[in-house]
Amino acid sequence: MKTRTPLVMANWKQHGSEAALTDWLTSVSAMDLPKMCRVLCVPLPYLAKLRQHRAELQSQVQAGSQLVSAFCGGAYTGEVSAAMLSEFQVAYTLVGHSERRQWLDETASARRSQLNALWQAGITPVLCVGETALEHQQGQTFEVLLRQLSEVLDGQTAGSLVLAYEPVFAIGSGKPLSAQSAQHIHQQLRLMLGRWYSAADCQRIRILYGGSVNKQNAGEYLRQDDIDGVLVGSGSLQAGGFNALCHTVAQAVTPLAPA
Ligand code: PEP
Repeated sequence: MKTRTPLVMANWKQHGSEAALTDWLTSVSAMDLPKMCRVLCVPLPYLAKLRQHRAELQSQVQAGSQLVSAFCGGAYTGEVSAAMLSEFQVAYTLVGHSERRQWLDETASARRSQLNALWQAGITPVLCVGETALEHQQGQTFEVLLRQLSEVLDGQTAGSLVLAYEPVFAIGSGKPLSAQSAQHIHQQLRLMLGRWYSAADCQRIRILYGGSVNKQNAGEYLRQDDIDGVLVGSGSLQAGGFNALCHTVAQAVTPLAPA
């Protein structure tokens, strides 16, 4: 049986508004799911409102950020440091999301520095890795994943981590990887983590699947041995849909009472 607490992360990307945040958090916080960790990654301007509402609602939903500066502070116009995020009680931050690799030219060197900055601030990075459709078709999945891990973890004193496996072709496409295929890859990822983490840490690290997860398929992922949660984009925007998805996850991870 899995001992890792399931983690469901909502990634709003560049969507939302203050009003949407108020409605969403009110609805999602009303759902009591004590055995699961839920995180909302909002665009940065909404972090203050998120902190305020979490306190007012005594919400179990944790705060997440979609980005962090590679720099710890100083003359870097437009950047937001890990220390600033922690002032807003950010517990998790995405690093290396494929949309940032693709559209914002984020480099491996920036990702390494982001990890370090987050570890220094006591925030858990959610490191996103995943191959493209072409790499997948050409059988390069494991080579690509090992490279993506090595380029940020080699030579580091690695700290707390969540890994998110997100095949690029499954993100926002409505074409998720099957839960069985994802499980096979997650199992290999857990083995790969042994290069940087102790055996006990490898068992503790949560590995999420991301890519067109919705309320219909979420439970099937969580039923796999090495899938510990999901990273959800479009399926997280509406509170009703997100609640239904979390409900499915809760059912999938709750052991059935003996007959
Ligand atoms: C994501 O934002 O990481 C993601 C997986 O998006 P979607 O659920 O829309 O595919």
